[in-house]
Amino acid sequence: MGIVIGTPNTAGAVRLVLLGSGELGREVALEAKRLGCEVLAVDRYAGAPAMQVADRDAVIDMTDPQALRALLEAERARPCAHLLVVPEIEAIATTELERLEAEGMRVIPTARAARLTMDREGIRRLAAEELGVATSPYRFCDSLQETQAAVAALGVPCVVKPVMSSSGKGQSLVEAQDGAQAAWDYAQAGGRTGAGRVIVEGFVAFDYEITLLTVRHAGGTSFCAPIGHVQVDGDYRESWQPQPMSEAARAAAVALATTITDALGGTGIFGVELFVRGDEVLFSEVSPRPHDTGMVTMATQTLSEFALHARAILGLPVPAGEIPLNTPGASAVVLAAETGDAPRYEGLEAALGVGPDAQVRIFGKPDARPGRRMGVALATGSGPDQARERARRIAGAVRVVTG
Ligand code: AMP
Repeated sequence: MGIVIGTPNTAGAVRLVLLGSGELGREVALEAKRLGCEVLAVDRYAGAPAMQVADRDAVIDMTDPQALRALLEAERARPCAHLLVVPEIEAIATTELERLEAEGMRVIPTARAARLTMDREGIRRLAAEELGVATSPYRFCDSLQETQAAVAALGVPCVVKPVMSSSGKGQSLVEAQDGAQAAWDYAQAGGRTGAGRVIVEGFVAFDYEITLLTVRHAGGTSFCAPIGHVQVDGDYRESWQPQPMSEAARAAAVALATTITDALGGTGIFGVELFVRGDEVLFSEVSPRPHDTGMVTMATQTLSEFALHARAILGLPVPAGEIPLNTPGASAVVLAAETGDAPRYEGLEAALGVGPDAQVRIFGKPDARPGRRMGVALATGSGPDQARERARRIAGAVRVVTG
């Protein structure tokens, strides 16, 4: 017999502890709630998006092993039928998660996957050195001198990124040998832990980049149609689905995503980021959880990436093979331009007037800062280009106002 879902806040409950309560976590929480689960939303600040829809919330520093253990032990002590720990972000004390998993706690997809993907080194070494998957050439460096040597060895242009970073923080493109110093300094200021190791990667002149959403579930592995995206300063601005691909590139992408996700194991959705050049596919990175570019699936698929994640982690059926795509679609982000509390959102009439399928999701974050993602526009179209144009118009009509 499969999973039985009891009533939230009773001994029969299926409880999800979301580690990270951003916009992706909010959608996971909503899908879990739709299936009758109990959701505890955790983040480092109050009023985070997923907290607004969860049964309960907790504010802790998830990088603090003691705080994380105390929270999860308290949840283990509360009666429920199943307890699932569902990481939504990378900045978590993953070594402690591995200990808790060894004590019998269930971590999605696995605590090892969370640890390997929390910094760029674990996953890069697994992919390139253990699995033999094609990636950009790279070197890890702990000092300016090593970075200068790596830039000289790999040649310019190349990309320097803190190993502990995401969303482009601390990342820069080095276009001349003497740019190593500025890139090193920028990485030191921009990393999650403030300082430390960087990866220097050869620049890949890709034709396009995709996220291949890959679902590991009780019935096997399934794939969403490829999602194309545009990044500015290492952060996603627009995504669309499907990204047209040659048969050979598509097959290579599926094979590569299968290799990577099989090595990480567990159940749930993975966002496999790939660079494509002709028929050649290079691995970039992977999120063992829903991916921000995958928000487009809220417009294009009956089962969004969040619904697929919820089903997979609960052991419920997921369509086999290729997840059906209802329509081409696109997403475009709504960013804040200024710093301030309690932002307001103007221009929704114009935004939703762009077309009958126009949608806006506002994340309700309690404060804004320049470049912070505050919402997303979703649109459909006869093809990805038309959908992109609509999504851009919708997002462009929304104004985030503070003060
Ligand atoms: P990442 O944080 O590693 O996903 O990088 C963010 C974005 O920067 C990617 O989605 C690419 O658009 C770009 N990028 C990162 N690494 C490289 C590379 N080695 N070559 C070319 N573009 C890159």
